[in-house]
Amino acid sequence: MASNRIADPHFPSRALISRNAFIHNLQRARDLAGNAEVMAVIKADAYGHGAKQIGTWALDHGVDWLAVAQLGEAIELRKALAQRGRMLALIAEPGAPFWEALQLEIDLSLSAAWALDEIALAATDTGCTARVHIEVDTGMARGGFSIAQLRELMPVIAASEKNGLIEVVGLWSHFARADELDSPVTRQQVGLFETARQIVSDAGIEVQYLHIAASSGLLWHPDTRYSMVRPGAILYGISPEPANASAEELGFRPVMRLEADLVSVRDVPAGTGVSYGHTAITTTPTRLATVPLGYADGFPRHASNRAHVMRNGSKCEIVGRICMDQFVIAAPDAVPGDTVTIFGATGDGYPTADELAKCCDTIGYEIVSRLGTRVPRYYVE
Ligand SMILES: *Cc1c(COP(=O)(O)O)cnc(C)c1O
Repeated sequence: MASNRIADPHFPSRALISRNAFIHNLQRARDLAGNAEVMAVIKADAYGHGAKQIGTWALDHGVDWLAVAQLGEAIELRKALAQRGRMLALIAEPGAPFWEALQLEIDLSLSAAWALDEIALAATDTGCTARVHIEVDTGMARGGFSIAQLRELMPVIAASEKNGLIEVVGLWSHFARADELDSPVTRQQVGLFETARQIVSDAGIEVQYLHIAASSGLLWHPDTRYSMVRPGAILYGISPEPANASAEELGFRPVMRLEADLVSVRDVPAGTGVSYGHTAITTTPTRLATVPLGYADGFPRHASNRAHVMRNGSKCEIVGRICMDQFVIAAPDAVPGDTVTIFGATGDGYPTADELAKCCDTIGYEIVSRLGTRVPRYYVE
């Protein structure tokens, strides 16, 4: 397998990010979206895949809208992408550089009264009209105005629009339980979203974009697509709820494949304690091999003694605890320099990020988005 290796003189592991898989997933998401616009969510460095490259692929393939979480991410990425398309920052903190965001024509979430004050001030200072999407809390209890707050602030928002400080482009919210196929909470949230929509329209404001559905809403509650949807996970081939359906069953392909080259092998007798705490002790003579990836690279320590990797089409169990920079597998016939696949390749026995996540009591989102900066990303077909 060493011959397949993409040479990197500095790092023994790599994440291969597939353009074809991403484009396929994007197309599938757009098919599901129907007449709704797709806002591609590329927060957290595109869930660990690299936001600049993923954002470029999305824009090159007809996506007009990108979303990130923090205003700082938006500013950095907006510059990196030469201000192509539209970009929404979902979160901003008091004191955030709104003036810079306005100059870069970043769409802002209007989620609290303090934000209206700061955004209006920045608009006055810069002479730019702020494009905002009002966030309403319909059931996450995380961000946005309650219905009562929205009602109270609506006259001020309407006045700010009249005098040209802001333009209300969107109204948005977020589902708490859209991964449940039939949830009364989702119906309630839609009801509150409709109330918010009425409040905004009663104030004489025409909103172009209504958006509430992320991947799970798009997949399992297609009646909530409104005029825009905000998928993230499915674009990367992650299922929002593998218990409902795997990404593959949903028609999505893994975009990230994680590989590493074995740094050493050793033959040990039965009874050998392996790695910190000797939580594993070999029961037979075993060839052990060391994989140069650890929890500092985002490989979860919870995978200790639980998950497997693939070498030459065979499963190799993880033996003992995951360390900061390496872990040990049982790998008959392995030699130093062999390449193992940790997740994301297609083929029998190859784990997906969602399957690895399950072994570690987490979700696929966390597996890919926490992959460390020490692991180089390669963009491949
Ligand atoms: C992360 C996020 C999304 C994307 O969610 P997925 O489940 O990855 O599709 C959409 N909207 C908001 C507000 C988010 O925080």
